[in-house]
Amino acid sequence: MENSPHILVIGSANMDMVIQTSHFPSPGETIIGGDFSLIPGGKGANQAVAASRLGGKVCFISQLGKDLFGNNNLDNFKKEGIDTSQIKQNDEQPSGVALITVNQEGENTIIVAPGANHFLSKEDLLKAESKFAEAEILLMQLEIPLETVLAGKKLAKKFDKKVILNPAPASDLGEEFYKGLYLITPNETEAELLSGIKVIDEKSAHAAASELASKGVENVIITLGASGAYVFSEGFKGIIPTEKVKAIDTTAAGDTFNGALAVSLAKGKNLKSAVVFALRAATLSVQKLGAQSSIPTLEELS
Ligand code: ADP
Repeated sequence: MENSPHILVIGSANMDMVIQTSHFPSPGETIIGGDFSLIPGGKGANQAVAASRLGGKVCFISQLGKDLFGNNNLDNFKKEGIDTSQIKQNDEQPSGVALITVNQEGENTIIVAPGANHFLSKEDLLKAESKFAEAEILLMQLEIPLETVLAGKKLAKKFDKKVILNPAPASDLGEEFYKGLYLITPNETEAELLSGIKVIDEKSAHAAASELASKGVENVIITLGASGAYVFSEGFKGIIPTEKVKAIDTTAAGDTFNGALAVSLAKGKNLKSAVVFALRAATLSVQKLGAQSSIPTLEELS
């Protein structure tokens, strides 16, 4: 795809170990679960894969362990057509892993052991300056050290590139994270943690988004699960609904949304049409099991 936009993704890569369960265990309880699957995951990796499958030319900056999961992830990124030249395999740290359970309602619980992800550093980004220069847009999340996220934001500014921050998992962020950010994309829980306002309807979504905008972010999108997304931008403020579907597994729904959004924005679409595209991709992903296994391709969307 010659005229595909360049997307730079900086973030985590994990191996997800997923078990189906009738219900989530209480402390001390053992449950015999259903099927087990081993699926490449991690928010950064998922978003990189989503952006690549949905038409972006993606470079992914990340750290893996020099182990079975690391090798497997690296092969997988290559198969996805992602530029892996900036992925380092750490000699001393294991690859990140996530233990995931999914119940019959499609809800999940997740525990992450970050391993090498927590060693992705500013130096790793400085080595990749040419990739910043090449990119149309930078997409980051919070599964790597926060100082690395800030370093990414600074480098993007140096090259005058737009930054999308998906503030997941939720973390308390100082002012310096918001100032000059093109777009922040929390889900309802993250929006509440960041703004102090519980998001339950359009009015509260607007209040939470205004609060985040007042910290210096240009645009805010709050994803609302089955209800779609709330968009706060200069040109449009309001909820964009999504199709009603039967959710099987919402793992990576937000990641699919963010990857799709980055591609659409990098292609020059306005925020509202980028959100419509991202909702279609994310809503398709909840109808399939797993993280990367559920991310659609451009062909599946048309
Ligand atoms: P996260 O996965 O980060 O918690 P959300 O749950 O808000 O994020 O979901 C992100 C997007 O995924 C939504 O905006 C929507 O497009 C899609 N989505 C999530 N859950 C559902 C659902 N139950 N039905 C339809 N679409 C969904």
